[in-house]
Amino acid sequence: MKYELLKTEGRAKRGRFHTVHGVIETPVFMNVGTVAAIKGAVSTDDLREIKCQVELSNTYHLHVRTGDKLIKELGGLHKFMNWDRPILTDSGGFQVFSLAGIRKIKEEGVTFNSHIDGRKIFMGPEESMQIQSNLGSTIAMAFDECPPALAERKYVEDSVARTTRWLYRCKEEMARLNSLENTINKEQLLFGINQGAVFNDIRIEHAKIISELDLPGYAVGGLAVGESHEQMYDVLDHVVPYLPQNKPTYLMGVGTPANILEAVDRGVDFFDCVYPSRNGRHGHVYTNHGKLNLFNQKFEKDMRPIEEGCGCPTCRSYSRAYVRHLLKAKEMLGMRLCVLHNLYFYNTMMEEIRDALDAGEFAAYKKRKLDSMAQGEN
Ligand SMILES: [Zn+2]
Repeated sequence: MKYELLKTEGRAKRGRFHTVHGVIETPVFMNVGTVAAIKGAVSTDDLREIKCQVELSNTYHLHVRTGDKLIKELGGLHKFMNWDRPILTDSGGFQVFSLAGIRKIKEEGVTFNSHIDGRKIFMGPEESMQIQSNLGSTIAMAFDECPPALAERKYVEDSVARTTRWLYRCKEEMARLNSLENTINKEQLLFGINQGAVFNDIRIEHAKIISELDLPGYAVGGLAVGESHEQMYDVLDHVVPYLPQNKPTYLMGVGTPANILEAVDRGVDFFDCVYPSRNGRHGHVYTNHGKLNLFNQKFEKDMRPIEEGCGCPTCRSYSRAYVRHLLKAKEMLGMRLCVLHNLYFYNTMMEEIRDALDAGEFAAYKKRKLDSMAQGEN
C-alpha cells in the first residue's frame, strides 16, 4: 500500500504516500528545481530548512545540458545534488512541446532541436523513461503530448489517443528498466497523465482508460496553459472523480495559493509551480494579506519583516527595507531571500491545509485564508 487515504472532507483528501526515499504527507507542494537547483541560489540545505518534502527536476533540461548519462555515472540525481528525500522528474514532454525548436511528432516520438545548441534530439516514451531512470528519481512522469489550450477537438482527440498508446509503452519500458541490475532506483514509480484540453468528455474517457493501468499515481496535465481559472476548476470538477481516490492526484504546473486551495477542495494531492520562485526573483513576495512588491517606494524605511511571525530564514533576520535595498542594488542575496520566503510560504500553507484536514476544518480554513489574502497589501 503506497498511498494511505487518512481522511476526507468533501472531495478534499489528506493522505500519506510511501516511497523508497521517504514518506510524503499530502496535500503537498513540490519545489521546482529545473536543472537540479531552485532558481535564486537556493541549495538543498535550504530546502530542508524551508519544509520542502519533494524536489522537482526537469528531464528535458537535464538531458540537453550536462546529460542524464553523466548524472547516472556520478550516482544519480539524489547523490549529485545531495538530496535524500523524494524527487519527481517530469517527462520532458511539456518542454519539448513548449520550448524546443521545430519539431516533428510521429507515433514513435518527437524530433526537436535543443534550445541550448540547436542539435537534433529524438524523444519518445522509451527515451523519456530511460532518461528518468538514469536520473534515478523517485517518481517519473509518463511521456505525453500537451496540446495547446485552444486546440481544436479533432486535434485533441488524436493527441489523447496517442498519449494513451505512449502510456502503455512507458509502463512497459519502466518495468524493464526497473528490472535491470545497474538501475539506480529499481523502485521508481510511474505516474500517468490525463489530457484532453478543456473537453470534459474527452478527459473523462481518458481518465477511465488510464485508471485501468493501475499506476501508483495520476496527474491532470495540460491545464494552466492559457485557459481561465473557472475552466480549470470545471475540468477538475468533472475529471478528478474518475481518477482513483486511493492514489495521489497531481495537478501539474498549478498555481497561485488560491488555485491550490480550490484544487485541494476538488481532490488534488500534489502540486508544483514556478510562481513562488519566479515571483521571488522579481521581488514579489506572498503574505497572508496579499502579495507585496518590495520594489515599491513605501518599503524604503519599513523595518518589519516581510511577514510578522513568519518562521522563514529571511523573516527571522531581515527587514523589508534591507531586502528592498538588495533588490534595488541587484544583489543576488535579494532574490535568494525573496525566493526562500515564498517557498516557505507555500510549504507552510500546505502544512496548514493538512492540519485543517486532520481537524476536519478545511472548509473554514480555506475561506479564512482566501479572505485574508484578498485583503491586499498592508
Ligand atoms: Zn518569511
